[in-house]
Amino acid sequence: MKAILLALIALQRLDNQIADCRRAVAHGPEKLAQARLRLTALEEELTTLKDQLEGNRRRRRELETESDDLANRRTINQTRQLKAKNNDEYRAVLKEADTIASQLTAREDELLRLMEEAEKLEESLPGLEKATAAEAAAFKTNSKSIEKEMASCQKLEKEALAERVRLTETLPADALGRYRIVAKNRDGQAMAPVSGGLCQVCRLSVPPQLFNELQRNDKLLSCPNCARIIYWPDHPDLRPEEETPDDPTVTKAHG
Ligand SMILES: [Zn+2]
Repeated sequence: MKAILLALIALQRLDNQIADCRRAVAHGPEKLAQARLRLTALEEELTTLKDQLEGNRRRRRELETESDDLANRRTINQTRQLKAKNNDEYRAVLKEADTIASQLTAREDELLRLMEEAEKLEESLPGLEKATAAEAAAFKTNSKSIEKEMASCQKLEKEALAERVRLTETLPADALGRYRIVAKNRDGQAMAPVSGGLCQVCRLSVPPQLFNELQRNDKLLSCPNCARIIYWPDHPDLRPEEETPDDPTVTKAHG
């Protein structure tokens, strides 16, 4: 019984390790995408800022050209004011002068506003460029470590699977069959240590009579509540294997 129980406990440890590995490998791409998301957001922000600056510069060049044209028209208009032949013509030339003046003012106002805007945009550019470069470097490191973690999990899983095959060959068919059925019905957790009179997986108490049987350790016993195969980790037969305070054969997710 000692060998069977030790093998079953080891099998549970391997199965939990394999499940952890598969979970880690499955979450890898998601973690990578999340890390990439932060970088993408900064890159987009930087592109938007550069586009705004470029748009601002383009509009300022347009305004400067338009202002030059208006200034030329104003000079021509001033000459025409002097050469006006009658009152009607003079009034028309003056009206045109007013229009040119108000158009020039509008362009000067817009130019001033755009210069202020450009100043603010240019101020925030170096900080954003620095933050984006830092995030790109962090992403590179982060993605390398995620990929490394995934690769090491895959390696660990492969080793655990090989060890599992070796271990299952040492187990009698009935014990292995029982483990498989309970594991299948109990979300992969077939084994449950009993400590302080409680099944450590479902947290319900084990009757004293059953605990006495558990201490004899001469047959496989089940938790009356969750039906998992129970064992007493403090049993002298099992103790050398079970000295760690946190029992790694129990995953917290199970109840
Ligand atoms: Zn239980």
